Amino acid sequence: MRIVRYCFDSEVSYGVLHGDGDAAEVEPVVDGPYGDLRTAGARRALDTVRLLAPAVPSKVVAIGRNYAEHAAELGNAVPEVPIVFLKPSTSVIGPGDAIEYPAQSREVHFEAELAVVIGQRCRAVPVERALQVVLGYTCGNDVSARDLQKSDKQWGRAKGFDTFCPLGPWIETELDAADLAVRCRVGGDLKQDGRTSQMIHSTSQLIAHVSAAMTLLPGDVLLTGTPAGVGPLEVGDEVEVEVEGIGVLHNTVRAASPGH
Ligand code: MG
Repeated sequence: MRIVRYCFDSEVSYGVLHGDGDAAEVEPVVDGPYGDLRTAGARRALDTVRLLAPAVPSKVVAIGRNYAEHAAELGNAVPEVPIVFLKPSTSVIGPGDAIEYPAQSREVHFEAELAVVIGQRCRAVPVERALQVVLGYTCGNDVSARDLQKSDKQWGRAKGFDTFCPLGPWIETELDAADLAVRCRVGGDLKQDGRTSQMIHSTSQLIAHVSAAMTLLPGDVLLTGTPAGVGPLEVGDEVEVEVEGIGVLHNTVRAASPGH
């Protein structure tokens, strides 16, 4: 099943996506997609609604250097214990939204990642039961100001700018995520082409590791790390993250607007 979040006529709803291409329709979900999922109300053609980020996380928990070739390309060792950092909920944007290139950085990178959406409140989840707390999977882009990541030491600012966490286009709930292609294209050119089977720590191991420290809530998102091939984004670029079996997350890049 594919779960979307969308806006129609100024109203925001979760929904179930039916069909593909021009025939695709969304059917609204009552009370959100967590727990018993109930649909009700009129189906609408997908092209008449605006898709939003499919989850509204209280936190985005991200993992650094979880692919050996990516760690090596930035001159880093593979960590024995997963590197855990947080991206603020305010960094999340949806499919089609613009990544804003901040004035503080000269080196903004894309990072295509498998994103895990948590389906229930959980803590200290054993590794063998970890997949039971997963609602499903979507595509994520762990956009990173690489120059600030190096100079700040802590990564909170470099990876926490508004718009630095595109998610979408939907949550796929029926998927074995153990060996999926994870790709990034910029302007149509293939930049990253890895597989989730190359992850050093598996999705289950990461859920166990993170939930041993912090309670995870429905809608929280776990970004599982990026394969090799990261590189720069420029204002005007079109960037796509594709995860096999899910779909394609498309975003543009524009200069950050002055603050409000
Ligand atoms: Mg990353």
